[in-house]
Amino acid sequence: MSVTEQFRRTKIIFTLGPATESEAMLEKLIRAGADIIRLNMAHASHDWTRQVIRRIRSVSQRAGRDVAIMMDIKGPEIRTGDLSVPIELKAGEIFDFTVKPGGGTEGAGSAQEVRSVDVNYKDLVNDIAVGDTVLVDNGLLRLEVLAKDEARIRCRVLIPGELKSRRHINLPGVKVNLPSFTEKDRGDTTVGLEEGIDFIALSFVREAKDIELLRVFLEEKKSKVRIIAKIEDQSAITNLNEIVAACDGLMVARGDLGIECPFEELPVIQRRAVRSCLAQGRPVIVATHMLESMISQPVPTRAEITDVANAVYELADCVMLSGETTIGKYPLECVRMLDVIARRIEQEADDDWKEPATFTGERMKVLHSAVVLANELPRSKLVTFTRHGFMAQGLALLRPAHSPILAFTPSAEVFRQLRILRAVEPFLMPLASEPNATIENAIALLQRDGRIVPGDKLIIATDILAQDRLVDSVQLRTVR
Ligand code: PEP
Repeated sequence: MSVTEQFRRTKIIFTLGPATESEAMLEKLIRAGADIIRLNMAHASHDWTRQVIRRIRSVSQRAGRDVAIMMDIKGPEIRTGDLSVPIELKAGEIFDFTVKPGGGTEGAGSAQEVRSVDVNYKDLVNDIAVGDTVLVDNGLLRLEVLAKDEARIRCRVLIPGELKSRRHINLPGVKVNLPSFTEKDRGDTTVGLEEGIDFIALSFVREAKDIELLRVFLEEKKSKVRIIAKIEDQSAITNLNEIVAACDGLMVARGDLGIECPFEELPVIQRRAVRSCLAQGRPVIVATHMLESMISQPVPTRAEITDVANAVYELADCVMLSGETTIGKYPLECVRMLDVIARRIEQEADDDWKEPATFTGERMKVLHSAVVLANELPRSKLVTFTRHGFMAQGLALLRPAHSPILAFTPSAEVFRQLRILRAVEPFLMPLASEPNATIENAIALLQRDGRIVPGDKLIIATDILAQDRLVDSVQLRTVR
């Protein structure tokens, strides 16, 4: 089987930005196989958000490939304020972060004057302690807290550099008491729901309770949008299993994790997070810096290729691009690169999950028997019918060794949400009132699309009518 013919099991997410927001580029990326488009609300106005969501929908329609949209909301993020000009921080310099407007002096007035910048969180002085580390701009600048009062936090610069406006602040190991779902998040989410997004990624989830706040908000709005919990700091790692249980999917947000946690812990955390998701039945995304060098170069480094491969070997559902597709020079090449690497590694990776997940319930046991059968038969394809996505999710979580999961749903929303699941290929089709007619319609559609050929073994996991009762069943049919 050639690399290009083979079905890709690992899904591709890319982040939209200036490099990719044009209709022409969007169409190329969707045709190249992108599955989910991420909107990073840290950098998005509501007008832009509405425009690009409508554009994605119309381009998807033209390309004949409906992709899902994930809105990534900022959560409890601490940032520096505006500066009239960047400040060059020097090693050893004493510098203030001010929490009250006018609490400091931005530029140097005289040699003795301590320079400062405002931060957007006034209770920071209560959360932080003398001796703590303050990292600014993705850890490029490092400061140590020397003293604090109600107006300012006085620091010494340990790693110098240029401080620009509105830079992200990380406080490794500090429990920040900001709300997990902020006023800005509410406004952004409301716009997303009005425009019909499919997933919400909540940043800096620290405990399961954070997800419940968003879930209540979505329930009030009668929304079925799925919640992706972004794990980005040490509290999230401490509460990992509870967070996985509470969310609909997890993102290993390696950008902030790599700042908040010791860097050598990052691969350990990634592996633990993927395994926790596999064990508890949640889709998992490995994100950030996958092809970072391709922001400016047309080919990735050998280490990046191996990093993408590692995520595929670990059986993650999705790999994700950020800067590569927001500001990078080679966004299309990046999507193609992920596609080629994933297809190749999937020929080697054994999707058959060796540590069985602790799923209970009769339906999961029926689905498990379908997967066991599919694993034993060459040329097998799993087929399922799913109104809410649960049958397809159940099969995907059992990680069939080689079969694709061809999932039929009558719902356009569920169709798009199925894009996140490893090995699932969604199809939009009305379900007939009689289960056997639904199966016949699906087989006809698959034959028409060339997705099945004579001799293929279809393992069909569905409910069937038996004496006026719907019962779960597994059928084996050979395509004629
Ligand atoms: C990350 O930190 O890896 C991430 C995906 O989050 P953001 O881009 O929002 O910082």
